[in-house]
Amino acid sequence: MKEHFRKLFVKEKECFSTILGQARAKKEIKSALLMGRHVIIVGPPGVGKTTIAKSIASLLPDIKLLNCSFHCSPSKPLCPACLKKKPAAKLFKGSERFIRVQGSPDLTAEDLVGDIDPAAALKFGPQSIEAFSPGKIFKANQGVLFFDELNRCPEKIQNSLLQVLEEKSATIGPYNIDFPANFIFIGTMNPEETAATEKLSDVFLDRFDVVHMTYPETNKIESEIVLTKSEKLDIDFPKNLLTAAIDFVRLVREHKDVLKKPGVRASMGLFERAQANAYLANRKKVNVSDLNEAILSVLSHRIELKPSVKYLQSNEEFLSALFNNFSKSKNLHGGGDL
Ligand SMILES: [Zn+2]
Repeated sequence: MKEHFRKLFVKEKECFSTILGQARAKKEIKSALLMGRHVIIVGPPGVGKTTIAKSIASLLPDIKLLNCSFHCSPSKPLCPACLKKKPAAKLFKGSERFIRVQGSPDLTAEDLVGDIDPAAALKFGPQSIEAFSPGKIFKANQGVLFFDELNRCPEKIQNSLLQVLEEKSATIGPYNIDFPANFIFIGTMNPEETAATEKLSDVFLDRFDVVHMTYPETNKIESEIVLTKSEKLDIDFPKNLLTAAIDFVRLVREHKDVLKKPGVRASMGLFERAQANAYLANRKKVNVSDLNEAILSVLSHRIELKPSVKYLQSNEEFLSALFNNFSKSKNLHGGGDL
């Protein structure tokens, strides 16, 4: 797969066009893929970590694989289904070889490696390989294993994962066969989240390169994301009001008293809810009060204030005061039918 990327990245400069901005992260990911290195993307929610992992999968070449749950290679079928009766080969698109694992404290080794299927165990006997139902690492073979929130899963899982990454294969329980589990690994971590996470060990981190993704770099990029991804009504949203809505989210995000910051989804929320408010008021155009009325419902649960501020002011009071000052400084209310 690294050879494929070497050819591709020389030919095509803009490979991740579905993600706006993030030039540095894109470059680092490309550079890691060229060398077949495993990557952990660190970044707040909603900045496009999943989207970038999916586009990596879609960049993979179509390949012919046997249509079984292990994605066996036609020249070397290994799994019980293929050994019994070789299924037809099928052309698999890269996007069909994208497997997602959601990291959580409840994640078990069986979820990753696989488990005995009780019905098949009755039919073939519990020790027979036919009774084994393969887990996600085998399904990701020849594709991308996207491991979301890696640091939320137990350390035991992290260790078994390391072994698979190292050996590009895994042995299943009592059977003495090594099954291929060769995939591009993309993990993610949320930097702000501290509750319910396991610290990744140094040994673990030593096997990965870390790529940081950030909030959209500029208001212009964030506006483009909001306009492409949000729900729209047939209502005019004046450009200067959209700029103001996003400026306000960015102001909250960068505010020194705000610990937990609102992401891009907050900007999308303001855009959608301000339109809805105009719609409910039977207007064809969003005005500043539509935006104002959306602020608390969209933003107040998405932020957390510093402890020293929290005891003096609720999130709602903080946001109302901030928006009041903000709209005055931008002269939003003075702009007539803004
Ligand atoms: Zn097979």
